Amino acid sequence: MSIKPNDPQLKSWIDVKTGSDFPIQNLPFGIYSDKHVKHHACSAIGEYIVDLYELAQHGYFPFLGVSPEIFQQDSLNPFIALGKAKTNAVREKLSDLLNSNNTELQSKKDLFSVFFKKQSDVTMLMPVKVGDYTDFYSSIDHATNVGTMFRDPNNALLPNWKHLPVGYHGRASSIHVSGHSFHRPKGQQKPADAELPVFGPTKLLDFELETAFIISKPTAPGESISTDKADDYIFGMLLFNDWSARDIQTWEYVPLGPFLAKNFASTVSPWIVTLEALEPFREKGYVQDPKVLPYLEYKGDKNVNINLQVFIRTEDGHENQICTSNYKYMYWTMEQQLAHHTVNGCNMNVGDMLASGTISGPQPHEYGSMLELTWRGTKPLKLQDGTERKFINDHDTVIIRGYCEKDGVRIGFGDCAAKVLPAN
Ligand code: CA
Repeated sequence: MSIKPNDPQLKSWIDVKTGSDFPIQNLPFGIYSDKHVKHHACSAIGEYIVDLYELAQHGYFPFLGVSPEIFQQDSLNPFIALGKAKTNAVREKLSDLLNSNNTELQSKKDLFSVFFKKQSDVTMLMPVKVGDYTDFYSSIDHATNVGTMFRDPNNALLPNWKHLPVGYHGRASSIHVSGHSFHRPKGQQKPADAELPVFGPTKLLDFELETAFIISKPTAPGESISTDKADDYIFGMLLFNDWSARDIQTWEYVPLGPFLAKNFASTVSPWIVTLEALEPFREKGYVQDPKVLPYLEYKGDKNVNINLQVFIRTEDGHENQICTSNYKYMYWTMEQQLAHHTVNGCNMNVGDMLASGTISGPQPHEYGSMLELTWRGTKPLKLQDGTERKFINDHDTVIIRGYCEKDGVRIGFGDCAAKVLPAN
């Protein structure tokens, strides 16, 4: 399948610097605001956002057959709900309008400032209204590391792990867009040497390096999505930080899983990179042994090569890279996760968010959480300012970045950043 806007030969008349997340081959979707605009849908090219509401007002998307107001909402949900035929047509039209061979928009110099704004001059808002959020546990290296630390190195994976993508339902209300800050959460913890639990701010605040995908099409209760059809239901991906309080988690998680250890905050990157833009970076999935049940079997290259990085920015502004990983290390694909999620008839809604689970790689510098990187705090990380981290300190900003690169094209997601403030 060749997707026209993905052509590596395409060039935009807008200058795109080397290393930018937003060349003409990306064209992700988001929501922005500034002092004149409450909320408009937008795309990104180089250092600019492209205002989709203004383009619609000027008649550039007649094929949508809807009022421009669809781009004037506080989330992309109504746009996404138009269906992939239409949302992909918008990406194709943008690709044409931004192409260096096309003068249609390029020649309208007086309207440049209407359609384009510097990304540094606008605020990106939460791109979707998340009705339901699910978090999986699908990286084999992460599950192995955690099982080794907390249970038994010889039986690190629980018996179900290679037979189904383990997941749980998370909290949608506290998912925030990049740039927010939150107070260190408080809760019950039970120190190993104490007889009774104590209450206070978490001492073991952690990040989890994840991605998430957004549902593009609803299903009816009772309906299931096959792995073959799953891609029709996935609008695109973003970066995701599943903030976790490890001491609260350890005490509370048996028998029903994490609760207050994770529902205080999650952070997402502001841009949804479409599944279509990610298509050139697809790779063969993990070899799954034992063989999975028929409803989890799939055909084709369904993993994605996405380079992932995590940084801690200290108060002095220094960014310390603390790990690299890659989405390709996922054992379970998005298609399998969605097939599993709906195999019992659980219905999906537009804007639902399904997160990958912590993405760790096989090497120690590829671990996707402080828990693993410092091996439960036994091997602290040294930062440029001379301080050490076992977990995340107050005033630290954790930044996740991600990009795909192939055939001279690099597309990225924008920063997924959040700052930790002292406990209230
Ligand atoms: Ca997680």
